[in-house]
Amino acid sequence: ARARAALEQLVVDVPDFPEPGVVFKDITPVLADHTAFTDLVAGLASAGRDADGTVRVDKVIGMEARGFILAAPVALSLGAGFVPVRKAGKLPRATHAVSYSLEYGRATLEMHADAVEAGDRVLLVDDVLATGGTVAATAELVARAGATTVGVAVLMELGFLSGRDVVGDLAITTLLTI
Ligand code: 5GP
Repeated sequence: ARARAALEQLVVDVPDFPEPGVVFKDITPVLADHTAFTDLVAGLASAGRDADGTVRVDKVIGMEARGFILAAPVALSLGAGFVPVRKAGKLPRATHAVSYSLEYGRATLEMHADAVEAGDRVLLVDDVLATGGTVAATAELVARAGATTVGVAVLMELGFLSGRDVVGDLAITTLLTI
């Protein structure tokens, strides 16, 4: 509970970013605090273990861009591989691609087609769950590879955007809910 309160204090609300009317949650002060960052990675990594502590994932996916920063140490702490999911056109080799709707327009996410193997168990890690579009599209990429998403772990869920409804039955671990 103390770790949670410390995380909450370090996230900064930024009004009108990236556009008027949006309050952006800036998580970079958490990363700059060694104790908070350590607690954050441990909290996210717990989503990759069974109740008895057994690691239950083969791969940890981080979504561009802040998901990279969190998913990489989570993967190392679980003894799992790290896989980046990126915006369209950034990955150099053959990819799976999934497009999804944004508030204005559409976006495409990609994953290297050979990054996740059929049958792999995968944990998705990101900083913020907002509308759920990013997580839903990433779970679809995992499904295209014939693998299974066993859970989603985020620092913060913006509950008022109901991203959970878009994500479906995936188990979501969130350290903070706004
Ligand atoms: P969604 O697809 O759930 O609407 O948006 C989630 C994605 O957008 C995540 O990759 C997350 O990094 C980013 N995002 C949306 N809102 C915020 C925010 O307020 N703060 C931060 N740090 N990221 C956000």
